[in-house]
Amino acid sequence: EFFFPYNRKMWRTSLRGMGYGWTSWSVPVPTIADLLAGARGEPRTGLGYNPSFLYPRSGGIGALVSALSSGVRDRVRTATRISRIDLRKKVAWSAGEEAFHFDAVISTIPLPEMARSCVILPSGVRAAASALRWVKVLCVNLAVRDPAATHGHWVYVPERTYPFFRAGFLSNVSAAAAPNGCASVFVETSFPSGARVNVGMEVHQATDGLRRMGVLRPGRKPDIVEPVLLDPAYVVFDHARDAAVGRVREHLRGKGAFTAGRYGAWDYYGMEASMADGIRAARDAIRKVRGISA
Ligand SMILES: Cc1cc2nc3c(=O)[nH]c(=O)nc-3n(C[C@H](O)[C@H](O)[C@H](O)COP(=O)(O)OP(=O)(O)OC[C@H]3O[C@@H](n4cnc5c(N)ncnc54)[C@H](O)[C@@H]3O)c2cc1C
Repeated sequence: EFFFPYNRKMWRTSLRGMGYGWTSWSVPVPTIADLLAGARGEPRTGLGYNPSFLYPRSGGIGALVSALSSGVRDRVRTATRISRIDLRKKVAWSAGEEAFHFDAVISTIPLPEMARSCVILPSGVRAAASALRWVKVLCVNLAVRDPAATHGHWVYVPERTYPFFRAGFLSNVSAAAAPNGCASVFVETSFPSGARVNVGMEVHQATDGLRRMGVLRPGRKPDIVEPVLLDPAYVVFDHARDAAVGRVREHLRGKGAFTAGRYGAWDYYGMEASMADGIRAARDAIRKVRGISA
């Protein structure tokens, strides 16, 4: 009732074509005692990858980035898209053709895009990168005055009658996320990477779904709607993924380009794993520049 319809809805692909490497941390493995308790209909709490977590008291999750960046803002350039990289000459160019010279590079650019950006790449590596698949996600954020009901922190939605696979209620996580009597809500709908997304229609369907789910009162509209398209959002772990990722990353690493984070590593990382991967990549890059072997 849950596992297959939910995963089909989220991954937008035949589940037979997928491996299960991505499940290692995200799908809890029940003990025999859990199984027996489930069969007896006894509720179990504390299961899953996130029964407890930390969240900033104010400022939303953006507070984490603000705190991390506070000591380095004057040394970090943002809002500069890298569009071309020559790993032999060790130069990266911005979309505006500004050149950046480097000894080693740490890349959080999504791996297929990183490969496309490299001006020189062996054809086998390029082919491996172009085989990588993903889904994109339209996240519709809504501010709702006087909601009819909200359901915990977030809920997974396997039913096809709703377009979204997940709905979340950030004001239930942190009271600072919305004024009194209001709710901060999001819903997420996934699409294959090549799909065209009609954002206006999706927002309409998301709002309608929330009304049918009993979150919005009948006839009421949300007060603010902010859709954000995340592309890529989730790496599809098909059977070709592991070998292709290994081939591309190994080649780039040999040329002094350390790919890191959820999209650089092309993995199913949350924030914590992405940050740990960034620290690892920084250490590797320093070793490379200093000529120390791993
Ligand atoms: C729908 C959804 C829900 C999620 N929910 C959770 C959750 O509840 N908890 C959790 O821990 N994690 C969650 N995650 C995962 C979390 O968002 C990621 O793990 C984390 O943001 C990855 O951090 P990162 O730095 O590796 O990548 P990003 O946050 O994507 O940062 C990569 C950076 O690289 C930049 N970049 C990309 N291309 C270029 C380019 N060509 N030139 C220059 N810069 C470029 C981007 O602008 C971006 O700033 C969720 C992800 C999704 C999609």
